Amino acid sequence: MKIALVGNQNSGKTTLFNLLTGLNQKIGNWPGVTIERKIGRIRKTNYELIDLPGIYSLSPYTLEEEISRKYIFEEKPDLIINIIDATSLERSLYLTTQLLELDSKVIIALNMADIVERKGIYIDINKLSKLLNTTVIEISALKNTGIEHLISHIRRNEILENIHNKIYSPFIEEIIEDVKIDVDHSRFVTIKALEEDEMFSKYQNEKIQQKIKEVKEHYNSDVEEVIANQRYNYIEDLKEKVLVTKAVKKSTTDKLDKIFLNKWLAIPIFAVIMAMIYILSVGVVGSFTVDFVDARIGQFGEWLSGRLEALNTSAWLISLIIDGIVAGVGAILNFIPQLIILFLLISILEVTGYMARISFFLDKLFRKIGLSGKSLIPFIVGSGCSVPGIMACRTIENEEERKMTIFLTPFIPCSAKLPIIIVFSSFFFEKNQGLIAASLYFLSIIVIIISALIFKKILFKGKTSVYISELPEYKLPDVKYVLRDVFDKTWSFIKRAGSIILICSIIVWFMLSFSWKLEYGVDVEKSILAGIGNSLAWIFYPIIGEYSWAATVSAIQGLVAKEQVVSSMAIIAGFGEDLAETSLIFGSSIFAFFTPLSAYSFMMFNLFSAPCFGAIGAMRRELGSVKQMLKAVSFQTGLAWVFSTLVFTIGTLMMRIFL
Ligand code: GDP
Ligand code: MG
Repeated sequence: MKIALVGNQNSGKTTLFNLLTGLNQKIGNWPGVTIERKIGRIRKTNYELIDLPGIYSLSPYTLEEEISRKYIFEEKPDLIINIIDATSLERSLYLTTQLLELDSKVIIALNMADIVERKGIYIDINKLSKLLNTTVIEISALKNTGIEHLISHIRRNEILENIHNKIYSPFIEEIIEDVKIDVDHSRFVTIKALEEDEMFSKYQNEKIQQKIKEVKEHYNSDVEEVIANQRYNYIEDLKEKVLVTKAVKKSTTDKLDKIFLNKWLAIPIFAVIMAMIYILSVGVVGSFTVDFVDARIGQFGEWLSGRLEALNTSAWLISLIIDGIVAGVGAILNFIPQLIILFLLISILEVTGYMARISFFLDKLFRKIGLSGKSLIPFIVGSGCSVPGIMACRTIENEEERKMTIFLTPFIPCSAKLPIIIVFSSFFFEKNQGLIAASLYFLSIIVIIISALIFKKILFKGKTSVYISELPEYKLPDVKYVLRDVFDKTWSFIKRAGSIILICSIIVWFMLSFSWKLEYGVDVEKSILAGIGNSLAWIFYPIIGEYSWAATVSAIQGLVAKEQVVSSMAIIAGFGEDLAETSLIFGSSIFAFFTPLSAYSFMMFNLFSAPCFGAIGAMRRELGSVKQMLKAVSFQTGLAWVFSTLVFTIGTLMMRIFL
């Protein structure tokens, strides 16, 4: 016997599937797409169970709907288990009304029984079963209740016959009767033919066309719309008869939500919190830690070069160690104090439950731009590192939305981009460096919104997934957990400095120390790196208003690792001649051309262009093809170039006009 599990996204299909099948699972993909396909055998039976993709209707608009429909029509399951989230009866029943139009046997598993009561909902199951003429079993897939009951009903075949309830107006019902197409799933196919569904276009005939016209004239709208409306009316009516909602006592969480998730205050509060986080970590903490750590690294460099000289080390090796490795790796280690504070504050927001609740709140807004609250998780994880952020996209079921979120996650300033922000904003915007950092964070949100709108219009079209999983209550942060989280993230940052940044620093040192003819100790302007930079400097001219080989090669190294932009600049500056004491990088004549404006546009480019190798690799894996990955990388880099050029050009013009 073949059984199909059908339901909305997040209704608990996979949870129930795992419970029913245990370890007897085969996981693969549906042919030609990256949507997961899970088949298993129900424990202690010979019944084959398939976990169909989450859908809201059986119309042909999304890939998920198409897959599910095709499966039902071609594989002809003997039974459909329609799993319903009892806390959102109305939305779930829309699909149910469609399933009941098929000839298939349907049993309803009313899930989330454990939380309905807590939410003050009471559902009269007997009545619901009577009105729908369908067997309804209350379960909780999470708490494993009612499952045996469900299985024994299936085993003993105690399932009501599907009698095709007449739920539409007499006018419509008469037409359905009249044009009835004599095939499997007759009622369903007839209705779809009246809706002019393409999958059933072969059943179109004059009589049906005539009736479609009649319906249009009678109701003054499409058949599809009329049918949908009448379904909703039926569900509305049904809901009123079986559902009672009571007010539940207010908990602390509800009280806090009154403030944090208030219709008007939620977004301003979120903005203030995020701005405070950046001002605190980048501005306040940064202002006294960077100089301190910088000085220590400087002292260490001097001490080390003293020792090396005492050991008669050759000049080039000292240069490699001091000007290459210590300068490059040290430039990155500078930012650890700020990163720790940033990681700490974000981790606290996560474990207190605030992030989950605000993402739930933002769900409605995200939906307008083709995303859902589910995208917020990758974005937040991405503020640490894009790679786990991109991996976190796996929780998004809807294919288009997942792709879109993968495309957008690298726009969030990850920890490796922080050094860029700090170096530029602390030098050019000394007093307001925290605000400038926060402004870039908000700019990334704007870039995400604009990109999402572009995507929605051009690249991906489709519905978004629903986000209703039970929200965690607010709670005090667990100190041990938070510290562990901060430690892990900081440690992985340090490891990068010790591996990838170290290697890149050596390569940069080499390309700066040698000319094309491999002469050592040439003037930097004749070095290999300068040669490469000069040939590409035109790309960055519109962004910084200068043909700078040094800025060019530094920005390009951001492709390997974003920290490397700063490392590279530090090494190059060290090779420049008149290095002033005040600022390691901008004291050098090589970078003296930067102005606050070009600093800002250059930061923008580095923040929004293609992410590092690691993230590009993650995008390739999660998007499933090199082509998609290239599409993402060129989109990101193109957008970054256009935006930073715009900022620089408009800024330059404004200064001409106003100054
Ligand atoms: P799917 O999208 O339909 O496959 O849904 P999942 O099985 O992934 O479940 C979505 C979310 O609902 C998960 O966070 C589950 O833990 C949760 N969930 C599933 N069943 C229940 C239930 O009976 N009670 C509660 N409280 N949560 C549930
Ligand atoms: Mg699932």
